[in-house]
Amino acid sequence: MSTDTPRNGFTTTILHSDRRHDVEHGAVHKPMHTSSEFAYDDARELAAVFQGKAGFTYSRQGTPTTTALERKLSQMEGGNGTVTFSTGMAALTGIFASLLRHGDHLVCSQFIFGNTNSLLGTLMTLGVEITFVDATDVELVRAAVRPDTKMVFVETIANPGTQVADLAAIGALCREQNLVYVIDGTLTSPWLFRGKDVGAAFVMNSLSKYIGGHGHALGGSVTDTGVYDWQGNDRIYEAYRKGPSTSWGLTQIKKKGLRDMGGTLAAEPAHRIAVGAETLSLRLEKHCTNAMALARFLQAHPGVSKVSYPGLEDHPQHARAKALFDDRYGGLLGVELADGIDCFDFLNALRVVILATHLGDTRTLALPAAHTIYYEMGGERRKQMGIGDSFLRVSVGIEDEADLIHDFDQALNRCMGR
Ligand SMILES: *Cc1c(COP(=O)(O)O)cnc(C)c1O
Repeated sequence: MSTDTPRNGFTTTILHSDRRHDVEHGAVHKPMHTSSEFAYDDARELAAVFQGKAGFTYSRQGTPTTTALERKLSQMEGGNGTVTFSTGMAALTGIFASLLRHGDHLVCSQFIFGNTNSLLGTLMTLGVEITFVDATDVELVRAAVRPDTKMVFVETIANPGTQVADLAAIGALCREQNLVYVIDGTLTSPWLFRGKDVGAAFVMNSLSKYIGGHGHALGGSVTDTGVYDWQGNDRIYEAYRKGPSTSWGLTQIKKKGLRDMGGTLAAEPAHRIAVGAETLSLRLEKHCTNAMALARFLQAHPGVSKVSYPGLEDHPQHARAKALFDDRYGGLLGVELADGIDCFDFLNALRVVILATHLGDTRTLALPAAHTIYYEMGGERRKQMGIGDSFLRVSVGIEDEADLIHDFDQALNRCMGR
């Protein structure tokens, strides 16, 4: 809804979002609506909702609680509408499986989250053709586009290599060739970057990460930015070619992804995520300053051979990241230890940092990527993604900066016998 476009700042808008819509009994927070079904006094009204009127029927297609969260996400992204999902992976499945058909071609960044890579493998077995390219260079994306290409998919900052896609130039290419441009904004979140500003049709977020922020709820979302007109796109089914043509794609994602595939976000995690989202800007500022300080410290340490972080001047896309993300670079670091330091011994020596998967938690988390989340894909694909055997993925939390630096320092020194 364009009336939702914030006049207030980012955080004020999110904090007061529930109040500006119908809240029961004057509650300041949207309550959790756990009912599976919604009743109507008038059968004609029930039928009208089934036929497209705004309202609720069966919770697989949404509840007032998910709607309140979706409104907040649309406000954050500057979008026209949002659909939430049970996880980020369900959101990605909702996009790809709703809008691509057998024989369609997708151009995809080769630097992507491991589970997304695996999901795309499944899509290939179902007949979607995919070309993986180095999306840090728009010319390589352009060279991969074919007459049957329908969609381009990239991450803003790639998990875990931290490559920054050529986001603006790819947006211009997609506009010129009328391609559906999908951006996974999980590592930046709308606080650092809005996909709408570079012409993305959809921005996907894993709400499990920075937006929820506390590592206690899973969720995903797809926001329709309204920049793509589906009128000329033949992948929209007849039933969804109703209302403004810029919203047909999201309607189809909702019908297929929630109603048919069932990737629905339940009310309880939706509520937790909505509460977490209120402090996104505060947390992310701290994630960013901690990560920058830790990146500089580790880069100068003899026990570390390489730090990948877009905030460092030697990062290949540093200048692009600086311009696009307003001189803030997120909370994810890639760390390669110096030869001779065993990555398992190093991780075991950490005292504050938690050895766990996940990212975007308030706590700092680390794991050996090649041996865990990137194990299944094999050495060749890891090499293509720039993940060596001693590559550590570090999700920097919001602890006190000195405590984090001290923890890494003592663990490195212990491994080096100092
Ligand atoms: C975690 C993550 C996902 C998947 O999100 P879940 O909520 O864990 O399913 C997708 N993309 C990126 C970049 C991620 O980091």
